[in-house]
Amino acid sequence: MAVRNGRSQGRLIVVSNRVALPDQTATGGLASAMRAALQERGGVWFGWSGKVARQAGGEVHRQTDGQVEYATMDLSRTDHDDFYDGFANRTLWPLLHYRPDLVDYDRKHLAGYLRVNNLFAEQLISLIGPNDLVWINDYHLIPLAAMLRERGVRNRIGFFLHTPLPAASLLIALPRHLELLETLASYDLVGLHTPRDQRALQEYFLYEVGATMRRDGRIRTPEGRNFRAEVFPIGIDTAAVAEWASHADEHEEIHDLRQSLEGRALIIGVDRLDYSKGLPERFHAYARLLERSPQLHRKVSFLQIAPTSRGGVPEYRQIRRELERMAGHINGEYAAPDWVPIRYVNNSYPHSLLSGYYRSARVGLVTPLRDGMNLVAKEYVASQDPEDPGVLVLSRFAGAAQELRDALLVNPADTEEVAEALGIALEMSLHERRVRWRRMMDVLEKQDVTAWRNAFLRRLAE
Ligand code: UDP
Repeated sequence: MAVRNGRSQGRLIVVSNRVALPDQTATGGLASAMRAALQERGGVWFGWSGKVARQAGGEVHRQTDGQVEYATMDLSRTDHDDFYDGFANRTLWPLLHYRPDLVDYDRKHLAGYLRVNNLFAEQLISLIGPNDLVWINDYHLIPLAAMLRERGVRNRIGFFLHTPLPAASLLIALPRHLELLETLASYDLVGLHTPRDQRALQEYFLYEVGATMRRDGRIRTPEGRNFRAEVFPIGIDTAAVAEWASHADEHEEIHDLRQSLEGRALIIGVDRLDYSKGLPERFHAYARLLERSPQLHRKVSFLQIAPTSRGGVPEYRQIRRELERMAGHINGEYAAPDWVPIRYVNNSYPHSLLSGYYRSARVGLVTPLRDGMNLVAKEYVASQDPEDPGVLVLSRFAGAAQELRDALLVNPADTEEVAEALGIALEMSLHERRVRWRRMMDVLEKQDVTAWRNAFLRRLAE
């Protein structure tokens, strides 16, 4: 056990909906950040196993790797459907991404969400030691701290919201919003990606909960609970991404892609197939580019990698059909025997390969309608060749836009603006590309994922 300032520091207990077990690759920045934090300090990673069991008896599977213990639970079919597919992904996800039109509220789903959070709380209790720091992640687990407090847990508990948080005027559209969101006050620290999200949380507590702001910056609820809501923009493992990208040539797949381009400039998009990513709007903008710039025909190629996700939710199946139709339409209109304008791929790729794909692209096109952060934007920048970097075209509505001011910032709903930005990116001088890239890379090197988790944990432990 680590000792600091004469007090035993305790372990770290990380809770997230999904857990990356030791034998699984930690996909995504979050998973690798959590694993590194746990390995450094020792602790437990608790969450859903990702499995649906015929009969979930609340049994916890445990395995240990070094000083990290992994504890996971299966979910029953009903719990999975109500909690995960239901309230988390059909109610909270669209609400948090400013899509009230897609919010599907069902009391049964809310009950399932609370039931699974309770189940988590019951199992967690026995894993938490007196000085342990508890770090709960994301919108699946908002009420978990309140449920732990009800069971007598007095430890410091932090929460990080990886999605955006919309303004109070939108949050109140959720039935029984107070019951859910008020529980955020049970944390000691709530972390958000951007100042806009932080303001939204403060406003919600001031105007809906009746809280006040204390002089020390904490929010005080009418019941007398105090908590902090602060900004911690998540970073990537910048050095690792740059290193993978610099070895891109060693992969046959990267070689094949580059050869297939025959000197054409590549525009790349990489996103989970999700309506928040603005993919139809992006396809429209690319079509508009081809329409207004005949000189680019045969000179560019757009590769969209979009692994399918959340296939259990109807909106996700629908967007997949829509994109297939659009890609077919654009290729039908512009393709030539020796040129395919859009390559649309539903597979997912490991980071080592993705960074090579990013590096092969003259333009990174990242245009979510809303995104908490968007790690792809950061990975694209970190993967570039410093001597000949590409240009990032980035939505103003991605959290990453707060830090990457040297991207070409666009409103993804403005087809014309995105098409124009693509044209500018494709023609940008080497000098300007280098200047913009260097400034963005400076930010990514300083605010990488290690700095992010250290800042959060330091603040939580204070
Ligand atoms: N990703 C991946 N393989 C793929 C597509 C995406 O590993 O084929 C990773 C990507 O590199 C990034 C993460 O998935 O680290 C997506 O994070 P982001 O913040 O961009 O979006 P999210 O999916 O969390 O909404």
